[in-house]
Parts: sequence; C-alpha cells; structure tokens
Amino acid sequence: MATTTAFDRALLLNGEWLETGEWLDVRSPYDGSPIGRVARGGADEARRAVDAAARAMEEPLPGHKRAEILVRVAAALGNRADEAARIVSAEAGKPLKAARIEVARAMSTYTMAAVQARTLTGEMIPMDASQAGEGKFGFTVRVPIGVVGAISPFNFPLNLVAHKIAPALAAGCAVVLKPASQTPLSALFLAELEADAGLPPGWLNVLVGPASEIGDVLVDDERVKLITFTGSGPVGWKLRERAPRKRVNLELGNATPVIVESDADIDATATKLAANAFSFAGQSCISVQRIYVHHSVYDAFKAAFLPRVEALKVGDPGDEDTDVGPLISESERDRVLSWIEQARDGGATILTGGELEGTLLKPTVVERPAPDAHLSCDEAFGPVCTLQPYESLDEALALSNGTRYGLQAGIFTTSLATAAKAAQTLEFGGITVNEAPTFRADQMPYGGVKDSGNTREGPAWAVREMTEERLVVVQL
Ligand code: NAP
Repeated sequence: MATTTAFDRALLLNGEWLETGEWLDVRSPYDGSPIGRVARGGADEARRAVDAAARAMEEPLPGHKRAEILVRVAAALGNRADEAARIVSAEAGKPLKAARIEVARAMSTYTMAAVQARTLTGEMIPMDASQAGEGKFGFTVRVPIGVVGAISPFNFPLNLVAHKIAPALAAGCAVVLKPASQTPLSALFLAELEADAGLPPGWLNVLVGPASEIGDVLVDDERVKLITFTGSGPVGWKLRERAPRKRVNLELGNATPVIVESDADIDATATKLAANAFSFAGQSCISVQRIYVHHSVYDAFKAAFLPRVEALKVGDPGDEDTDVGPLISESERDRVLSWIEQARDGGATILTGGELEGTLLKPTVVERPAPDAHLSCDEAFGPVCTLQPYESLDEALALSNGTRYGLQAGIFTTSLATAAKAAQTLEFGGITVNEAPTFRADQMPYGGVKDSGNTREGPAWAVREMTEERLVVVQL
C-alpha cells in the first residue's frame, strides 16, 4: 500500500514509499480545506530517482510483461474509478462529472499504451533498392531512448500523467515523474496502481517538491534522455533551451478559436460550445476561447448560446450536478477577472458573467474584445470566451491564425468545401469539424505547432518519441 495514512502520501522511489520528514500540504481550490499531505522531495531524491531508473533499465522488461502491467492498471482504474475521480475532483477542484470522464480517459490511455507495448516494431529496409545494398538484408528495431523525465500540469492530474508514464512503460523506458505541486495525489494514486500491478522497482519514481530543483536534475543528468513536459509555454521553452542535447517534448497552451459558418446547425453548435468553453472552468489547454460567427447568423447564435451558458451550474466541484467550479487559485481567478476588465475598458461588452458568485467566477461571454486585448491574443485558461462577428471565411481563418498558438481549432459548417479549406488553412496541430476543438480521444495524435508545442502525444506517437530507431544490416 502506498499511503502511510489515508491523508499522508509518501513518494515512490526505487519501489519504496519514501517519507522525507518534510510535508507539503494539498488543499482544495474550492474552499481551502486540507485534502492531504505529500512528502517533499528535492534534488537529492531526484538524483536517487534517476539512479534507480537507470538501474531498472539495465534489466529490460519484455513487451508482454509491460503490456500486462498496463492492462492491469487500466482494470484497476476501472475498479477504483469512483475513488480516482474523487481524488482528482478534490485536489484540482474539478467538477465530479468531469473528473469521472478523466478517469475513463485514463483507462483508455493505459489500454492504448498496452497495445503499443505488444506491437512496437521497426521496419524492413529494401536494401537491394540500390546497388550498394545488394546482397544485404536490413531492418530497424525500436529501442527505448533511456530514462524519461516527466513534468505534468495540474489541470488533468490523472490522465496527463497517464499520457506520460503509460507510453514510457510501453516503450521500455523508466520514468522520473514530477507532477504539479497543487495536484500530486492523483499521480501518486496512479503510481500505487502501477506498483500493485507488478511494476518492478525503479521503473516509475514520483517526486513532489520544488519544481526548479527537481527540474534542474532532469535537465543536468545525462542519463535522462528525454524530458516530456506539459504545462505553460515560458517554463516549457526554457527547459528546451537548457537541454539542447536531449529530446524535450512540449505540450503547451492555446487560445482556442472556433469558426461558426452561416450554414452551421446553430442550436447544436451553441450546445457544444457552451459546454466546451466552461468545462473545468475553462482550465483545459483546448477550452473554447475565441468564437467567430458569420455576421448573417450572429444574432441567432448569440440568442442560442447565452441561455445555454447561463444554465450552467456554478458551485462545489464535489456536487454531482456542478458544471463549473473554482479556478486553481485565487490569484488565477483574479488574473482572469482583470483580463475581462481590460476587455471591457477597451470597449467590449460583457454579455453574461464578469462577476463572482460567492468566490467563483461566473461563466463569462465577452463580445467584440479589441484585437490587442488579452482575451483576443493570450490563453485565458478560465471560464471566459469571446464572441465576434466576421464577414468572410478568409477573415475568420486569419483571425483564428492570428495568435502565437497552434494546438487545436474548430469549424462548424455543413459545406465540405469550407471544411476542407479550413483544414488546409488553419495552422494548428488538430482541426475539428462540427465538433468543439476541445475534443480529444486518447489514441489521437495530439499536440501543437507554433508556441503550442513541438510534439504529439497519444500512446502510438509518444512511444515513437520515447524510442530510437536502430538500423541492423546483415551481409547475406
Ligand atoms: P506550469 O505552471 O507550467 O506547470 C507545469 C509543470 O511544470 C508543473 O509540474 C510545475 O511544477 C512545473 N514547473 C514549473 N516551473 C518549473 C521549472 N522551472 N522547471 C521544471 N518544472 C517546472 O503549468 P500549469 O499551470 O500547471 O498548467 C497550465 C498550462 O498547461 C496551460 O498553459 C495549459 O494550456 C497547459 N497545458 C497544455 C496541455 C497540452 O497537452 N498541450 C495540456 C494541459 C495543460 P509546480 O507545480 O511545482 O510549479
């Protein structure tokens, strides 16, 4: 068992649950109540974790064993789904219904990773395609890249950890994981499931503590061959700059645009966008943020959209019927409020929200923000979206492309030609048609271009990143 008590969580280091004598409190973002305590690790524990991971990889685990462990974790997540959802909800302030979806998705991530563990393979090289290769036989094998350092954010504390540690195991890599300080309990819960599923010591090590201290060890230690980071842009790009000889895979933010064309199904579109602009109070990297609506259907869309936003239930994330809970911290809430104020001062209209309900920020819709307002240019990461009419598709495409981000974007239209043009023109890692760009299925390739990142996750893609291709040439 992982816990010293239900309340205290030790770190996982070389297969041992480690207490360090110092504790970090985990508190509810909703009401500040204590959720648990986690042993605090630092540079020393991080170095020992890399030692343990490197040692573990000296005895590779065969693919079938890796797959069996991954399948067992998926099953355990299913058996303990309610407990997992309650941990996610409590520490992240995520409404329970969204937390339950996250748990189901983490099961899917493990299931897909298990498939990769069983099917990981290289390819045949047609050696006799050139004169030089005649009389030879060539193929590639995929070998684990080495120890993986993983750093994860608070907003999907279970499934985004799963997206790092499950593919790493599928690829045959041992991991040193540093989850977000605000949400370490979901990661440690997952680590417990992996240990219970038969993962030998050292293959997964989880440290909670000062980000820069642990991050520095991952950057400096040459045995860490890949850093997989999900979080904010400035932290991610800095890590990459500091580790030029490692693979540093970044999954970063977005200011997600959606185009609503004149031929779209207005009611269906309004329903999807109201749900996906405010789920988890907008704290998803692909939360709908900038909605561009063709001028001919602008009023109809607004009339359909606003009542759906106002019907969302704001409140305690532990209640089964809550749609919108708190932001992760008061300072984040105040930042989002100040961005709404800035837009208002710049001439925008607040159509709904823009104020607190108790301590929670109400779902907010801002009409026509100035082009240089934060809400038009930067990632809001809060329960707020903008509405703006446009004249032509070209204008809407240019507006959508007009920020430094490029993770996912969406378009609602019944015209195949329009959808195809959008898919070709939008500079994003993923385009959704007649679906909110907040959509993600865990087997998809997922990741961004421009400032939004430099890689793709989804087990099949992550496993490719976490392995090297090795060529074997045989003289016949
Ligand atoms: P964050 O502040 O960048 O933190 C992410 C992780 O980085 C945390 O574990 C944090 O640790 C750690 N960290 C902070 N400073 C570090 C340093 N100097 N060295 C090493 N690690 C460091 O991001 P967040 O607020 O948790 O997450 C929100 C952001 O993540 C948003 O921008 C969102 O769009 C993005 N995101 C992207 C995706 C995607 O797949 N593209 C998915 C989800 C979220 P501490 O918690 O200890 O500070």
